Amino acid sequence: MNILVLQEKHAEERRVAVVPDHVPALVKGGNSVLVESGAGALSGYEDRAYREKGAQIITDRRGALKEADVLVAVRLGAADESDGVDVNLLKEGAVVIAMMDPWKKHPAFDAMKARKISAFALELIPRTTRAQSMDVLSSMANLAGYKGVLFAAELLPKLFPMMMTAAGTITPAKVFVLGAGVAGLQAIATAKRLGAVVSAYDVRPAVQEQVESLGAEFIAFDVGSAEGTGGYAAELTSEQKQKQQELMIDYVGGVDIVITTAAVPGKPSPKLISEEMVKKMAPGSVIVDLASERGGNCEVTTPGEKKVVHGVTVYGPVNVPSTVAHTASQLYSKNCTSFLNLLRTEEGELHITPEDDIVAGCMICHRGEPGNEGATEALG
Ligand code: NAD
Repeated sequence: MNILVLQEKHAEERRVAVVPDHVPALVKGGNSVLVESGAGALSGYEDRAYREKGAQIITDRRGALKEADVLVAVRLGAADESDGVDVNLLKEGAVVIAMMDPWKKHPAFDAMKARKISAFALELIPRTTRAQSMDVLSSMANLAGYKGVLFAAELLPKLFPMMMTAAGTITPAKVFVLGAGVAGLQAIATAKRLGAVVSAYDVRPAVQEQVESLGAEFIAFDVGSAEGTGGYAAELTSEQKQKQQELMIDYVGGVDIVITTAAVPGKPSPKLISEEMVKKMAPGSVIVDLASERGGNCEVTTPGEKKVVHGVTVYGPVNVPSTVAHTASQLYSKNCTSFLNLLRTEEGELHITPEDDIVAGCMICHRGEPGNEGATEALG
């Protein structure tokens, strides 16, 4: 079969779906890996490196889409090629593996149905131990958490660590992390490594132990339980939201940096930092809103922008993993190739097993028929 890797066309995207090191395992069993020339250029993977590992470099993008049995991409765009992949060009029955933002209706889904595509949205891979090597949400969130802290350190007009110098003692910066999932825990670890005093809050009390094991203080604003299913948070009720705001306002006023990562799957980001809280922060303080792509955790965040509001720098970076494209591609590629192995026999032939919980969990459609429950909704 032909496994196709294209250059991503989305404006913010620097990652590539498969890196050269993972090509040898894919060509196993006589398969071909076709890589569009320049696909890895923005993440530091040259055509030459792909060739050396056994891939074929192609330049006819549209022609390759017609020949592909499996398309592995970072993002699956709309059917009109606005993100660079025209699903209508794929041959009937082809397989597509990509991040597809599957929680909303997407124009590509109609095209996939029509072309009898089997499509797998990697964001829906179950968060189970067996699926860990395929978990793109974790691998990308981990990078976002790390990079978010670096953004904040760059923007804060203070140092992170305590320093005792002949010219005086510098007190450490106070970093408050909101949401202690994968991104939040990495943000905590990174801020600690840089020497800040770190605290964190999450609606799931279960994370307290993990926060403390990283040497940070867990701030328990008691708003009642908000444990959802699958280890995720549930959306707070309006009473819980109000209580959360009241409890948080004074605390936020006393920190130098807030890193927000709070998310509820498929829902807009919960608004945790009000403009009132921003006003309470000291001039020069920084908010890095890592939830900005889904609307942001801070009321005054503008996705993709860095601005000063009431003297506080508020930054809502988008597609943060793409800013560390080399590493992000390496991890994403490992996630994709591990998943692709689930869809292949020992000999390397395509064999989709919808009864497998991981395959079923992220199957948006199988030969054009709706896959799991979430997918049925997405397909309309
Ligand atoms: P996420 O990105 O969905 O959310 C980030 C964090 O925001 C979560 O910890 C969530 O509780 C928190 N949050 C949501 N609403 C909030 C609010 N109003 N106020 C404060 N915090 C709020 O989460 P994630 O990082 O993707 O992790 C989700 C779950 O998956 C976790 O339980 C994690 O441990 C689990 N997980 C399991 C595995 C595995 O077993 N293989 C791998 C990765 C993650």
